Amino acid sequence: MAPLSKSLFVAGVQCHKLLWWKVHEPLAVELQPDKVLLDRFDQGQAVGELARDLFPGGTLVSIDRNRDTRLTLTQRALAAGTPVLFESAFQTSDVFVSPDILQRDAGGNALIEVKSASSQKNEHIVDAAVQAHVLQQNGVELDRVEIMHLNKEFRHPDVGDLFARADVTSSVRDLLPVIPDVVRQQVDALAGPLPTVAIGRHCDEPRECPFLKRCWPDDPRHISKLYRVGIKTAASYMAAGVHHIDDLPKNAKLQFPQQRQLKSMSAGTMIVEPGLAAALADFDVEPLGFLDFETISRAIPVWDGLAPWGPAAAQFSYHESRPDGTYRHVAHLAEGPLDARPELARRLVDATANARKVVMYSPYEKTQIRSLQSAVPELAAPLRALEDKLIDLLPVVRDNVYHPGFRGSFSIKDVLHPLVPELSYNDLVIVDGLVASVEIARLLFVADKIDPSERDRVRRDLLDYCERDTWATVRLLQELRKLAAQR
Ligand code: SF4
Repeated sequence: MAPLSKSLFVAGVQCHKLLWWKVHEPLAVELQPDKVLLDRFDQGQAVGELARDLFPGGTLVSIDRNRDTRLTLTQRALAAGTPVLFESAFQTSDVFVSPDILQRDAGGNALIEVKSASSQKNEHIVDAAVQAHVLQQNGVELDRVEIMHLNKEFRHPDVGDLFARADVTSSVRDLLPVIPDVVRQQVDALAGPLPTVAIGRHCDEPRECPFLKRCWPDDPRHISKLYRVGIKTAASYMAAGVHHIDDLPKNAKLQFPQQRQLKSMSAGTMIVEPGLAAALADFDVEPLGFLDFETISRAIPVWDGLAPWGPAAAQFSYHESRPDGTYRHVAHLAEGPLDARPELARRLVDATANARKVVMYSPYEKTQIRSLQSAVPELAAPLRALEDKLIDLLPVVRDNVYHPGFRGSFSIKDVLHPLVPELSYNDLVIVDGLVASVEIARLLFVADKIDPSERDRVRRDLLDYCERDTWATVRLLQELRKLAAQR
């Protein structure tokens, strides 16, 4: 079998079953990268290339796909005394690694692993330790190991340093003695049948496993389907013997929405609290607006004041009620690579000027309007006025309504189907905010590489998606009013 790559080793540390599937079923649908993952990969590559600029005189050994070529070129560069090697290659009989940066100077040998994350994480230590192990086996003793990551304090274009460096030498040294055993266990696991691994916390640590749907039950009564219980909390419940919602002890301390969920599930019917009508009173104004943003999030920030991965609004959809019961709709989607926020803010202020209240679903829109106040200071006052008009519909649903079809979630998509069954996202091409974010970034920054007909189609898809979000909120409010009136 081919030696394990570093990323396979890291997957194996998370779970042997995940490793086994990655090696023996590489074409599994769960492993095919989607647009979001491909974008992450591209952004990580851009971060890696930028990091190299901080090591002038460094030599890119090879990014050839052929491992043997890379191994040979690395040995040649080492023999020639090359002081900084990018993408060098080393292997043992079981593991192949390619350190991002290997620096050799009077201070000794340093391994510098570049990460596009905006902080140093525990998983980076495992990643660096397996590389240190392979280098050691190749006669390269390391004096220093660093994680070079994006600095969350950086602000575009030049406030602070884009990169921060964390010295992880001692953590890596602590881990080194166990690496050979961990490698052996992984190799053994791969030589056998699919390993048996119970589901647990590791399914979400250090990252969400792509095989969750294969391993976790889809049972709506599973404890992971209790409101606010994600994988980690579900794992704690399971460790205590609570696998199903019905296993919860009678005296379990539950939040009100969780208690309502339990009642609704055992009755098999929707529960509507008497307080719904009062909770909707704030929404009884005209004209009433409905707002939704889509944002971009770039590892290397692109517009003034943005931090690495900092979100920036680039699209909005806005519906506003008219006295005759119809709604007007305004949409805006940025074009071109220049800072989209000033024009977006102007159009937003114009569109919402007459509304007495503006409905959002979750506080995300408020956060974005606050960011716009700093990004577009000349419109700070009207944006503040808009912020004051915002009202959130999500807590109204969460605190007053539960339908068994919510499956423990109050996201707009999860509540929409049970409450407004005729309206869905199924007819749309883009149905997910993360995909929308990646597509907007593609339109803004690499439009010249996209065929014009595809560009038009993606713009249309994005406009349809954002419009659906605000229309879904309009329809949801209408249904909630009906439910309140029926009580
Ligand atoms: S879902 Fe959990 S148990 Fe299944 S492969 Fe992933 S990490 Fe392993």
